[in-house]
Amino acid sequence: MPSPRVPKIPDKLALEPESVITVSSSQFGRSLALPASLNFPRIRQAAMMDRLQRFAAYAWAAPNTILGIILALILGRSTNQWVWVDGVLEISGPKLASWLNRPWGALSSITAITFGHTVLAQSREAHDFTRAHERIHVRQYERWGLAFIPAYLGASGYLWLRGRDCYRENPFEKEAYGSE
Ligand SMILES: [Zn+2]
Repeated sequence: MPSPRVPKIPDKLALEPESVITVSSSQFGRSLALPASLNFPRIRQAAMMDRLQRFAAYAWAAPNTILGIILALILGRSTNQWVWVDGVLEISGPKLASWLNRPWGALSSITAITFGHTVLAQSREAHDFTRAHERIHVRQYERWGLAFIPAYLGASGYLWLRGRDCYRENPFEKEAYGSE
């Protein structure tokens, strides 16, 4: 009796574990390791989920982003430089610089400050210098949404009342400085 025509399948493909997916096939009666790049529906589904998550994060942080944009429009609308970097709007200009470069509470000046997906800084160099730190604040806004600013100020106020460093000991700053 002739055996059915079954394609020859290698027992194991020489691939890295993270680059393969396992597919069970009743036709072949065993699992088959395939390169992940061949599993189009699964990749499309993962990409869709990723896009939905990113959209939700932008929507959640949007009120803060709008606040940052309004501040940038008030402080040097025409002279500001607006640059989109890795999903974040980085804004800088001379009027913004003079607004930031003054004592703010416990700080002698602010090099850069984040509002949602907007970062205001004194200059392009200031953006480059502070990017890793400010991106942690962007992720914090994505988690906390509208509650971020009250939570941040609340933590600083609590520390200040106890005579502690209300900036460096703020848990949001500790996380951001931990990234450097
Ligand atoms: Zn910070």
